Amino acid sequence: IKWTEGRGWHDAELVPYAPLSMDPANMTLHYAQTIFEGLKAYKQPDGTVATFRPQANAERFQSSARRMAMPELPTELFIAACDALIKQDRAWVPDSGEASLYLRPFMFATEVGLGVRPANEFLFIVIASPAGAYFPGGVKPVSVWLSEEYVRAAKGGTGAAKTGGNYAASLVAQAQAAEHGCDQVVWLDAVEHRWIEEMGGMNLYFVYGDRIVTPELTGSLLPGITRDSLLTIARDLGYTAEEGRITTEDWKRDNENGTLTEVFACGTAAVITPVGSVKSERANWTQGNGEPGEVTMKLRKALLDLQTGHNADTHGWMHQLG
Ligand code: PMP
Repeated sequence: IKWTEGRGWHDAELVPYAPLSMDPANMTLHYAQTIFEGLKAYKQPDGTVATFRPQANAERFQSSARRMAMPELPTELFIAACDALIKQDRAWVPDSGEASLYLRPFMFATEVGLGVRPANEFLFIVIASPAGAYFPGGVKPVSVWLSEEYVRAAKGGTGAAKTGGNYAASLVAQAQAAEHGCDQVVWLDAVEHRWIEEMGGMNLYFVYGDRIVTPELTGSLLPGITRDSLLTIARDLGYTAEEGRITTEDWKRDNENGTLTEVFACGTAAVITPVGSVKSERANWTQGNGEPGEVTMKLRKALLDLQTGHNADTHGWMHQLG
């Protein structure tokens, strides 16, 4: 679907997957006016297909668009575009289990020009790819690197938007994590470098017995849809679920004194991933006993059962395509 200043959204079309042809002076290539989303379509037990909370993705896309001076795509158009592609690619929706059809809606500037200003022409596209189970061999805890050198986002920046530049700026820290033998980066706040924000592509949860806490939305972390869903699912299961503020010192101390029983990350791709060990320039510790925890696995099952149609959709989150 195209957007042009003065004309709005127009020319929606479903076309075979193919390379795009682009002018070297396309403004996106220079100034990164680009946003995206990620969501999954799961086969349901009765053979139909459903997506999980596409409305929430549409709304986050609108909020990213506002931050990046881009036009807002109406929710109905966002969902209709995803639905049209899923219907076309129905044969590619995996049959069962945790496998899914991953959808990647995105938008970028198509105007040609070298002046730095918001573009006046954009293209919205959805592509899809089958995604296998994130942990085909069983859930495996990840090791994380606390990034004290680099920051992902600062107050007033683009941290709460799902825009390409945030990820570009993250790559060097991801490489640093890998050099230290870690799977993922954990980002800290930009001012004091001690408040836990989120992981590279997932939000974090801290489990204190039957109370789970996730870092509050400060404006510099992504408001994850999985994070938001888990606040509700955890309460449904009888846990106390809240937003809070946690420092790296709290994490280390509460793990040592045993009050922090589990830590996990959550996002569309991995659903829920236990954190097994933590490293930084100054510290190195095993989270709990390094194994997936009971609360983590219970929440993981509850969320996946809901997404794959094995739990009742009590909150009206599943969007059925028939
Ligand atoms: N934080 C970041 C930086 C992400 O890229 C993602 C993935 N979209 C998340 C958190 C988790 O968000 P969601 O649950 O909506 O996938």
